[in-house]
Amino acid sequence: VSRFNDITMAPPDPILGVSEAFKADTHEMKLNLGVGAYRTEDLQPYVLNVVKKAEKLMLERGENKEYLPIEGLAAFNKATAELLFGANNAVILQQRVATAQGLSGTGSLRLAAALIERYFPGSKVLISSPTWGNHKNIFNDARVPWSEYRYYDPKTVGLDFDGMISDIKAAPDGSFVLLHGCAHNPTGIDPTPGQWEKIADVIQEKKHIPFFDVAYQGFASGSLDADASSVRLFAARGMELLIAQSYSKNLGLYAERIGAINVVCSSSDVAERVKSQLKRLARPMYSNPPVHGARIVANVVGNSDLFDEWKEEMQMMAGRIKNVRKKLYDSLSAKDSSGKDWSFVLKQIGMFSFTGLNKAQSENMTNKWHVYMTKDGRISLAGLSSAKCEYLADAIIDSYH
Ligand code: PLP
Repeated sequence: VSRFNDITMAPPDPILGVSEAFKADTHEMKLNLGVGAYRTEDLQPYVLNVVKKAEKLMLERGENKEYLPIEGLAAFNKATAELLFGANNAVILQQRVATAQGLSGTGSLRLAAALIERYFPGSKVLISSPTWGNHKNIFNDARVPWSEYRYYDPKTVGLDFDGMISDIKAAPDGSFVLLHGCAHNPTGIDPTPGQWEKIADVIQEKKHIPFFDVAYQGFASGSLDADASSVRLFAARGMELLIAQSYSKNLGLYAERIGAINVVCSSSDVAERVKSQLKRLARPMYSNPPVHGARIVANVVGNSDLFDEWKEEMQMMAGRIKNVRKKLYDSLSAKDSSGKDWSFVLKQIGMFSFTGLNKAQSENMTNKWHVYMTKDGRISLAGLSSAKCEYLADAIIDSYH
């Protein structure tokens, strides 16, 4: 009998498990709207031209495979912080940011969670209800307590702003508040600039520490600066904050696992100490991060031609998603005779649409229509083509009514 006999079967991951089920389906109209990964109009994975160009440069230079420092590639860390805050931001000029390269967004969030667990024992992280499914896993595994604040209002398919504010107010002073920098996952609903100001007011009043998850910079609106405006608004108030970044979506580097954790501190002296502790936490976890994706980012951002081309490709990707969003809305409105108002689809931003379909309705989408999606009603528009918008609209209308 096995020594591992007491280990039970773990449930499939609610997001990545969807792709496994999709692969096993042989129906010709099948559609994978589960995982948030960009697809071309032919529904094929896409490698950005700037990535290919940067890789060619790297190959020509014959770069070696030596270990990176624990905190990652210096040129990447500089580029990623400047991309986030803007190169002339006071936090950069005053060297108040502790930046460490992380294993994409997830690994960077995990490293920050380890920092919270070690230096803020008992402090709670407030997360939005709902949120990206992995947030809870990350804080659970790091042994950081969390609770939820209201975010989504099913009645309006919009933001429950009053609920959000009162839950942030009700939390113990000095809690961490996890915020999605842009393109909230799964709802696609972001606060307005005015609402961001009020959120910052309450967080300051309560001496909370904002903790941004920025997984879609440039990918939501097509503009790197516009998508970082929430983070910059908080930084401009002189607040201390944490920001996890990911290059999975905006540079299509999903499998390269490239991202960063940034901790904005009140002085360069504190930032230096925080960085030393991030390194101390990373060393026994994974020793040092992978180099390939870091070099790609550093080369793209550091070369003005490639940087401009990246912005164009990002706009192209964001634009394609906006197009299918519009076409899906048009198809839903034209086909649905019930009079339901579908305009929420247009108001949402980023790669997802939160359809409002419940668990049973989402299962109908998959079982009857071969549309694979998470059971919370979220669909990834990045996995949708114009050609399949009408089919998807039929499936949604049938599942709703
Ligand atoms: N945070 C959010 C909100 C996400 O949607 C994702 C990816 O789907 C991530 C973080 C992390 O992704 P990765 O670890 O691939 O960078």
